[in-house]
Amino acid sequence: MAQWSDQVALVTGGARGIGRATAELLAKRGASVCVNYVSQAEAAETLAKELLAGGARAIAVGADVSDAKSVEAMVARTEAELGPITILVNNAGISLKATLDTFDEGDFARMREINVDGVIHTTRAVMGGMRARRYGRIVNISSVAGIGTAAAGNAFYAATKAAVIILTRRFAMELGAAGITVNAVAPGFVRTDMTEAKLSPDEWERTSNQFAERAMTGRIGEVADIANAVAFFAAPEASWVTGQVLAVDGGRLDYIGHA
Ligand code: NAP
Repeated sequence: MAQWSDQVALVTGGARGIGRATAELLAKRGASVCVNYVSQAEAAETLAKELLAGGARAIAVGADVSDAKSVEAMVARTEAELGPITILVNNAGISLKATLDTFDEGDFARMREINVDGVIHTTRAVMGGMRARRYGRIVNISSVAGIGTAAAGNAFYAATKAAVIILTRRFAMELGAAGITVNAVAPGFVRTDMTEAKLSPDEWERTSNQFAERAMTGRIGEVADIANAVAFFAAPEASWVTGQVLAVDGGRLDYIGHA
């Protein structure tokens, strides 16, 4: 049985938010970690130093996941410096709000390039090595929006996250026989820059209370809630769990339905 200390994890968008908590947790379990970033170079470098100080092997590597060539270069550098990648966490993502009335083609294209194409590029870049070694754990970060929650203004973002769910199942089919599992975590409303950055303190208070009321647990999510679920799928022991989508949403009540 593989050990956590044998693992090398690539976490896309690892410098902040859910990605950062995931990088920290995987390092704590004993994995070596590549913290990928696109804009937050300093935060990524600082995190890598913190992980090193905590006893893990870690590097920070810049790459835009929507650019296949940059992703290939990042994978090559990670494997040269840390060893073969055994865990891929596709966490990088953006959310641009719009309704049918305010739809912007460019915004939607950019979300697709990062949220969907990004998952394809990284998976293609690591799968050769994983197949050769007959071992891999791929964890995609989708969203409950992609399953069908009823929050307004994120229909097009939701479409990209629904795409992540079907890619998870289809990639699991394609890669399962090679010992590679592919699963998705679908977070509910979690406090990060994505949900908080553009809101005033009052707006944040109102919004977070609304989402807390929509959850059976009566609270919004913390980044650690999501990282824990990622670590479950990424674990060496999780070898017979694949093609699954785990909603980690505190028990969201506002799913669109016919009942
Ligand atoms: P966040 O704090 O805004 O972090 C987004 C991360 O994605 C950042 O680390 C960013 O890198 C990275 N990123 C964006 N574009 C990229 C690109 N082109 N190439 C590489 N990295 C890129 O948001 P978050 O909430 O932690 O989001 C993490 C994931 O969870 C996303 O996929 C998001 O859709 C999903 N999610 C979040 C929630 C929530 O409530 N927060 C709910 C459901 C799903 P830099 O730091 O370098 O800019």
